[in-house]
Amino acid sequence: MEIVKTIDEIRKIIKLWKREGHSIGFVPTMGYLHEGHQSLIRRAAGQNSRVVVSIFVNPMQFGPAEDFNSYPRDLEHDRALCEAAGAHLIFHPDASEMYQPDFCTFVDMNSLTQGLCGRSRPGHFRGVCTVVNKLFNIVGADRAYFGQKDAQQLAVIRRMVRDLNLDIEIIGCPIIREDDGLAKSSRNTYLSPQERSAALILSKSLAKGRGLLEQGERSAEKIISVITENINTEHMARIDYIEVVDALSLERANSIDRPVLVALAVFIGKTRLIDNFVFQPGLHENI
Ligand code: AMP
Repeated sequence: MEIVKTIDEIRKIIKLWKREGHSIGFVPTMGYLHEGHQSLIRRAAGQNSRVVVSIFVNPMQFGPAEDFNSYPRDLEHDRALCEAAGAHLIFHPDASEMYQPDFCTFVDMNSLTQGLCGRSRPGHFRGVCTVVNKLFNIVGADRAYFGQKDAQQLAVIRRMVRDLNLDIEIIGCPIIREDDGLAKSSRNTYLSPQERSAALILSKSLAKGRGLLEQGERSAEKIISVITENINTEHMARIDYIEVVDALSLERANSIDRPVLVALAVFIGKTRLIDNFVFQPGLHENI
């Protein structure tokens, strides 16, 4: 399977594929791939005759104090995983290929990006929207696949596609977890063995919140306080946020009478982890 590094080269291949009548699925990633990414690639391979995976650690979406330099990278491992999952091509540009020195055009969003991760990561979604828009323009895919693991990102991308009339279908895919419940993440490799055990508090606390919702609790305040109490039983955990928001607008929900996203970000030591579930009153299911 080919790894392409330039925009000219990938455009030539895509043009050829389109002439041959192929449909194109696209999975944008930052690499260091795991079963979560693999599930997106498999889904794309099931629905399209050609699948492109991008591997690009996008400097624009990292804050100055964040982990851009230390973000894990392993291209050979990623190539094998992509191939096994049914991808046809990896797009792996250098930052200089994506951003000219005098780059000055950005995609910004007024709502949806202010709360949740946007509050503690200013500029993050500007970087995400800008790079995803660029990647959509470069790849020209029919469908793009994003994980519910990054629920705010998925909602932001859906809104960007709607607002800017981008001709691409966005497919959301469920969170893939370790056997013990921890959501798979490239950042899990930062965790020491003790931190890895402590990190279980995220999914366990969310499960408590979900249990209450399934029993009929409809107060967001109550759900947040139960999750908070649970997280605080783990001394290695420091809460960034725990929120209950409307699943589409991401605005704070007080009483739970429509689909809501229950989302959290928690530091375990220095590692910031996120997790969430969507609850639909009447359906009682986590997606
Ligand atoms: P990243 O490489 O972390 O930028 O993630 C690339 C894509 O994979 C995003 O759409 C993520 O939401 C998705 N993803 C990451 N982890 C998981 C997971 N555990 N389950 C499902 N999708 C995931």
